[in-house]
Amino acid sequence: MTHGLREAIYVRVLGSLMARVLAQAAPGLVLDGALGTQLLDQDGLSASPTQRVRPVCALSVDQPERVRTVYAAYFAAGADVIHTNTFGATRHDLAPAGRSDVRAINLGAALLAREVRPAGRWIIGDVSPPWRPDLDEATLVDGHAEQASFLMEGGVDALHLETQHAVREVTAGLAGLRRGAPGLPVWVSFALNDTGLESVSGVPLQELVAAVGPDEPERPLVLGLNCSLRPDRMLEAFTLARALDPRFLLFQPIAGDPDVGPAAFAAAGRAALDRGAHAVGGCCGTGPAHIAALRAALA
Ligand SMILES: [Zn+2]
Repeated sequence: MTHGLREAIYVRVLGSLMARVLAQAAPGLVLDGALGTQLLDQDGLSASPTQRVRPVCALSVDQPERVRTVYAAYFAAGADVIHTNTFGATRHDLAPAGRSDVRAINLGAALLAREVRPAGRWIIGDVSPPWRPDLDEATLVDGHAEQASFLMEGGVDALHLETQHAVREVTAGLAGLRRGAPGLPVWVSFALNDTGLESVSGVPLQELVAAVGPDEPERPLVLGLNCSLRPDRMLEAFTLARALDPRFLLFQPIAGDPDVGPAAFAAAGRAALDRGAHAVGGCCGTGPAHIAALRAALA
């Protein structure tokens, strides 16, 4: 690939001048691994019901040192980009847990990341799907817009609407991000079921991509796959996704149940880059050892 094309893709992903610098040397961007499962592992909490009682994203306010430690471990492992600890940090997601400190949680997560960020690395604001059919579209858009504005205030370089699975949710999420954080690059990634052709809730990938729509002028979108699939299965799905839309550039498989070791994870990440990915990281079950192995495999 020519430097010119690589540069264009990196600027699409991160929208910054530094992306041009990195594009001259790097084979692809290394993202972080899981944040939630790393933080939950620290005290053995399990994800779903507990998150309602004490959301993991609230740790950025309640126990910031724990979050700072995980962020720093990913940068130390060689990640170019880390995600903020803001999964579930919208007003509509925090309300059932009795939390309304939406600004403190989002701003705190971004500022903690900036404290440990080495020069020349990036921070991406993480935004999750609501899984809330009970909420109307305006509430979802408002919630995402508010979160995006706080993340932008915290100085993130881009936003990532991740683990998307439903047309209604991705449409509302994207509208909210565009309204709340004008100008920031946006990544949208989908969680697919074992078919590799539809989301975990059974929506064809083609419909989800159509719902995302074309790029905005001056603000290209980046698409990807994250969560739900192990590396080998996600590689197959990624190839199909790229045939559907060349904007698919992100690859973030899971590594859990049963565990995928760092070496196998890194080999799949390398293969994804060979198949057109430009940003590779891990989702649930991955940790700093997976990211370090990936970084070493790209050296
Ligand atoms: Zn995941």
